[in-house]
Amino acid sequence: MIVGGGPVGHRVAERLRHHGHEGPVTLLDAEPGPAYHRVLLPAVLDGSLTPADLRLPDLPGVTVRHGVSAAGVDRHLRQVRTTEHDRLPYDTLVLATGARPHFPPVPGLRHASGWLIDGVTGLRSLTDCARVRGDEIVVLGGGPLGVESAAALRRGGRRVTLVHPGPYPLDDRLDAEAGALLTRHLADLGVGLELGRVAAEVQPGKLALDDEWALPWDTLLCCTGVRPRTGLAEAAGLEVRTGVLVDAEGRTSDPAVRAVGDCTEPAGSLFTGWEQAEAVARSLTGRGAPYGLDGRRGPVFRLRVPGLTLGVLGGGGADAGGEGAGGEIVTYRDPARGRYARLALDATGRLTAATLVGLPQALATLTQLYETSTPLPESRLALLQGRPAPRTGPLPALPPEAVVCRCNTVTKGALASAWDGGARDPGALAQATRATTGCGSCVDDIRRICEEFAGRTP
Ligand SMILES: Cc1cc2nc3c(=O)[nH]c(=O)nc-3n(C[C@H](O)[C@H](O)[C@H](O)COP(=O)(O)OP(=O)(O)OC[C@H]3O[C@@H](n4cnc5c(N)ncnc54)[C@H](O)[C@@H]3O)c2cc1C
Repeated sequence: MIVGGGPVGHRVAERLRHHGHEGPVTLLDAEPGPAYHRVLLPAVLDGSLTPADLRLPDLPGVTVRHGVSAAGVDRHLRQVRTTEHDRLPYDTLVLATGARPHFPPVPGLRHASGWLIDGVTGLRSLTDCARVRGDEIVVLGGGPLGVESAAALRRGGRRVTLVHPGPYPLDDRLDAEAGALLTRHLADLGVGLELGRVAAEVQPGKLALDDEWALPWDTLLCCTGVRPRTGLAEAAGLEVRTGVLVDAEGRTSDPAVRAVGDCTEPAGSLFTGWEQAEAVARSLTGRGAPYGLDGRRGPVFRLRVPGLTLGVLGGGGADAGGEGAGGEIVTYRDPARGRYARLALDATGRLTAATLVGLPQALATLTQLYETSTPLPESRLALLQGRPAPRTGPLPALPPEAVVCRCNTVTKGALASAWDGGARDPGALAQATRATTGCGSCVDDIRRICEEFAGRTP
């Protein structure tokens, strides 16, 4: 029994079948329609995708009940109570209840009853997308969600103002130079920027900032963080801190209950929801630990704003571990053309962190080198320009076990098999393996791999 049909709950169901689980699987999801790719919601805001385009594949052999919530868990009887008043038995329960938007305690944002005033919304679901109305949009919060949403709404023709307390958007991830390029890109798009300011008071149609300047709004979109949805787990007596506490295979304090994704607080790891889903499915089908997670590097972040390539590997280029640790820092600046890179390398020439703006080919290559812990070629400049220099020879080919599409855990080996089976371009590889159909940030990598395969002897 899986509770929650977001991308991670859906993934658990899919991987259980993939790994050979033959027993019945039931998935309950509070949302009314089919599961969809949440990360692509901004593309619905700018009209480049329809809600139907976001739909995740159906789950053959899984009983999916949309619009049905789990209202309670009786761990003693191993039953889930639903909002439809039935009791569903389980042998193993997987909680994938995700997270909900967090709204800041700004005066006027809520009625006395606690409900948000009309026109205020977060962005977590297709229902939230439909709540974004009118021409005048104020986005609160300049993190990834706020930036991607502001850019999408502007592309969709709305008047948008982004309010962010930091000196530039994404200031907790970017150094000042990368931040300046991002700020310029947003300004060029026509996004109004209120930086270094916070919301002081909300009135219907009007937002007062801390300097008392009032912004008009039809929709006030709060991209001010999320909180794990843990009510069900807490009421069932499971151990919860900010999220449901789980081990590396998703076990909660009750061995018959696992938890995955945004509702959890994984034990000291960097696992993504996707990796947790794989780990739980493998564990429940006796397949052991997932490969490729040991010794993995830090997080990889890519901003999804069309027309701007921006990526951060590890803690970013300003991360410690460069010069001080016997390594080096490489910096490349071309502000007039919107390009910037700062790389931190250790003493063996391996990347420990990087920030890149406006360098798509270099970002694709460096991401692969970072994730596979491969030393960089001698000519750093050629690499940043997107071409290995003749003297350095070609970049080392990725090993078959390298994960190319992180969202769908597609390895280079799986792409090679699909290629040999006749999938000879990125579109066909996407059909065969689902690579690129998640966040879409591996599209360039798949193109490069196609070129590599085309030149190889089968
Ligand atoms: C626009 C956007 C962009 C994002 N970009 C990125 C990104 O680039 N990288 C990244 O790692 N993450 C990103 N995220 C976050 C990512 O979407 C989440 O990490 C992911 O959705 C988590 O999946 P989940 O299944 O754990 O939870 P959710 O997606 O929150 O899904 C939980 C589901 O459970 C259902 N549910 C809750 N309680 C119950 C109940 N009691 N009974 C039945 N159903 C219930 C909910 O209705 C929901 O459908 C982004 C999010 C958004 C909105």
